[in-house]
Amino acid sequence: MQIEFPSSFLWGAALSSYQCEGGNYNSDWYLWEKQKQLTSAGIACDHYHLFDRDFQLARSLNLNSLRLSLEWARICPDSSSISAPELAHYVKVVDTLRKHGLKPIVTLHHFTNPVWFANSGGWLNPENVDGFLRFLKAAVESLKGKVDFWLIFNEPLVYIYNGFVQGCWPPGKSSLRLVKKVVTNMVAAYCQGYQEIKNIYRQAGLTAQVSLAKHTLVFSGCPGLMLPFNSFTAFCRSKIFNFRLLDYLEKKRCLDFIALNYYCKYYSRFGGLLGRECSHGGHKERRNSLDWSVYPQGIYAITKILKKFGLPILVTENGTSEIDERFYRDFLLSHLKNLHRALTEGADVIGYLWWSLLDNFEWDKGYQHRFGLIEVDYYNLKRRIKPFAYTYAKICKENKLSL
Ligand code: BGC
Repeated sequence: MQIEFPSSFLWGAALSSYQCEGGNYNSDWYLWEKQKQLTSAGIACDHYHLFDRDFQLARSLNLNSLRLSLEWARICPDSSSISAPELAHYVKVVDTLRKHGLKPIVTLHHFTNPVWFANSGGWLNPENVDGFLRFLKAAVESLKGKVDFWLIFNEPLVYIYNGFVQGCWPPGKSSLRLVKKVVTNMVAAYCQGYQEIKNIYRQAGLTAQVSLAKHTLVFSGCPGLMLPFNSFTAFCRSKIFNFRLLDYLEKKRCLDFIALNYYCKYYSRFGGLLGRECSHGGHKERRNSLDWSVYPQGIYAITKILKKFGLPILVTENGTSEIDERFYRDFLLSHLKNLHRALTEGADVIGYLWWSLLDNFEWDKGYQHRFGLIEVDYYNLKRRIKPFAYTYAKICKENKLSL
């Protein structure tokens, strides 16, 4: 059996600046690595210099789109200036993408902040919202017309959860009172940023599609005697974590499409204010190298729920890191099959981006976990296309999947 995708379907992969560019020593994550003695991103994949070659590889895999992010700390090295050479660099990056026939999808904030911004209170300080908007305006002015899809934030709730609840990411806080402040400031930045991008494009007689990449999880209750309580916790978590922000932004009319990041299932148990994760004993799903529970039906289930917004849905991240190569292929095919099922049931899915084009820096986990279509040898920076990427290349070329 063969399943076909719509003719204009976007087939791509995603990257983020801090995780692959290298040399981002003016970002808060660099200080955090030093402070916590974590593996440093260092020169990462040196994508900052090797982007042309990486895009050629992406094109050789028949991708027609690519998501990347701009490193704010490069463009705004301090609280008042804009770096013309760094802006010119990203214009060149986007032009190179387009030259290779790859549609650019650009993220403005992918977890990292400039050091000056972090030192002046980061997202806890409402006055800092303007600092972000200054960056946004400069970037959008330079790239207007070259980029159709903008993502203002990547996974803001993951950023907030790790940085302000768990405290395992910068700024290392753990306080629900602070969470409220950060949410308020980031939502304000998003809504104002949305209007700015729309205005800049409108004034130039252009249109842009604007959204944020929303991380989603399938929440399930841990089995056992406490199952009803655990399931209730899972239900609440799903409502708060997966949908509340999107509901809010949609009501404010500042979402043009849904940008969906989906990876796995998460088991919750009752306890604490937000519930807790439970160990996976007794569960049937396979686990990837990060111990995430692989659950392909989840992309179908979530996409079906997101259909209620009546907006196009772009999968801006889906992928896995494995120890055994054959699991990548299974993951890819099973998720595409489930995504296609949602499509046939009326969800307006316009594209699918694999996370990630390259193996890269996995935040506090360092370099051990490999999500790439392309393997990176971190000693000599050589790239090697992984076998499963050829399966993906065939699907992208034929716009269909044989089951
Ligand atoms: C993030 C990436 C990260 C990936 C794998 C996504 O949620 O956007 O930055 O590398 O997950 O953990």
